[in-house]
Amino acid sequence: MESIPKDLRGLRACLVCSLIKTFEQFEYDGCDNCEEFLRMKNNRDNVYDCTSSNFDGMIAVMSPEDSWVCKWQRITQFCKGIYAISVAGRLPAGIQRDMKSRGIIYRPRDTSQR
Ligand SMILES: [Zn+2]
Repeated sequence: MESIPKDLRGLRACLVCSLIKTFEQFEYDGCDNCEEFLRMKNNRDNVYDCTSSNFDGMIAVMSPEDSWVCKWQRITQFCKGIYAISVAGRLPAGIQRDMKSRGIIYRPRDTSQR
C-alpha cells in the first residue's frame, strides 16, 4: 500500500481528489489519481500549488467501488488510500484550465464554507 501516508507530520491533501499523503510522497510519486494533469512528481512548486495542508476529516478507503462513503464523496473511481473529507484551498487557474481542456470537471473540495 504505497499511497498510505508514511508519516503523520507534513501531511497534505490533493485539492482535486482529496487524497492525503506526505509532501515527500506527493513529490516522489505524484498524486495517484491526478498525476496525469497535476504533474507533481519531482515538482515541489506543483505540490505546493495542488495540495493543501489545511484539511478536515480522514477516511480510509479500501474498496472504493462498494463504499457508500466513497459514493457520497464521489471518489469511487479513485485508488485506495486515505482521503480528506474537506480540503481548504483553490487550484491555480492555469491548472483548472488545463483540466477543463482535458474534459475533467474540477469540483473544489472545500466544504467548510457551506
Ligand atoms: Zn489528486
